[in-house]
Amino acid sequence: MDLFEYQARDLFAAHGVPVLRGEVATTAERAGEIAAALGGRVVIKAQVKTGGRGKAGGVKLADDAEDASTKAAAILGMDIKGHVVHRVLVAEASDIAEEYYFSFLLDRSNRTFLAMASREGGVEIEQIAVEKPEALAKVPIDAITGVDLAKAREIAIAAGYPAEILDQAADVIVALWDVFTKEDATLVEVNPLVKTPDGVVLALDGKVTLDENAAFRQPAHADLADAEAADPLEARAKEAGLNYVKLDGAVGVIGNGAGLVMSSLDVVSYAGEAFGGVKPANFLDIGGGASADVMAASLAIVLSDPSVRSVFVNVFGGITSCDAVANGIVAAFGKLRDAGEQITSPLVVRLDGNRAEEGRAILAAAALPNVEQNDTMDGAAQRAAELASAK
Ligand code: GDP
Ligand code: MN
Repeated sequence: MDLFEYQARDLFAAHGVPVLRGEVATTAERAGEIAAALGGRVVIKAQVKTGGRGKAGGVKLADDAEDASTKAAAILGMDIKGHVVHRVLVAEASDIAEEYYFSFLLDRSNRTFLAMASREGGVEIEQIAVEKPEALAKVPIDAITGVDLAKAREIAIAAGYPAEILDQAADVIVALWDVFTKEDATLVEVNPLVKTPDGVVLALDGKVTLDENAAFRQPAHADLADAEAADPLEARAKEAGLNYVKLDGAVGVIGNGAGLVMSSLDVVSYAGEAFGGVKPANFLDIGGGASADVMAASLAIVLSDPSVRSVFVNVFGGITSCDAVANGIVAAFGKLRDAGEQITSPLVVRLDGNRAEEGRAILAAAALPNVEQNDTMDGAAQRAAELASAK
């Protein structure tokens, strides 16, 4: 999960990384109030989860409260690389003598953590890496020993930070390592890390990516999720405990087991080529059990997606037997009917594996409206694609 800058800034402050005082606002009026409370010059910064805000006009200095609300009004609603600005950070403005770059990240290819640091900051790191690769220090971090003051100093020297800030930079780097490890982050980036004209080191912009696999031991992180940005269907599926990912095609896909669902997506895409490029509308893994409740919740979510024109239910009975799944589908239709939900799209069901004959017989006997069976995965995917293209 990527955080907004103001959230990263809050985590920085909590772990002792020096940042400037500030607060987030959703209206120009509120931005003015925050500026008045801070007093003096402030910086107004668009809160969007993309870089290059400065270049896009999303970072503006303001002289006083009135100027702050005018500038906030100009930034709120702005579109930066497809991200609409709903919030601005209003923070004390800093004078800048020099800008540097610093980050900790997970280096998957080398199976280690990595510090990247450069005396060239402010511009995008990709640009530094291409134009001045020699100015970008990459220092691997041992996960066991981590980053103490000595290691932090080594990184700061490798980056070419000036001698007079090495002590401060080392303290900041240790504090950033604290953010990285204690918050279970996979990325902590400061760009720019600045030296003010009085020689004070500050983190002026922060980017943090949290590891969602650690959510179970980071209960406080749940509050950092951006509810507005979440796909409404994905949010509903998450509440129902389903593994659902929204895609942009027309064939709803429900299956048991992540591997089977992924290959179902491939098969639908392949079959869809013959029908004008029909594609899967989602990934939905119902997992091992396939109770009526799980099946009803799955069908309700997939069918409420307005772009779904047909549904492919692909089940391979293993531990879960096909007759249980068939009963689940029949019961799910009953539940949906009772809830007043319309089954508007045709379903193609493929049952195979453990007790497939029994499952198919149950479905055939139930004669559910708009449901047909197909004995093979390829055949079912093709039929689902055909139905989606015909509707
Ligand atoms: P980004 O463009 O999305 O990375 O946004 P940043 O927060 O990094 O801001 C872009 C640039 O605006 C920085 O590199 C600074 O040069 C400048 N900037 C940001 N905050 C301040 C500030 O408080 N004072 C001054 N003078 N410049 C700032
Ligand atoms: Mn930046």
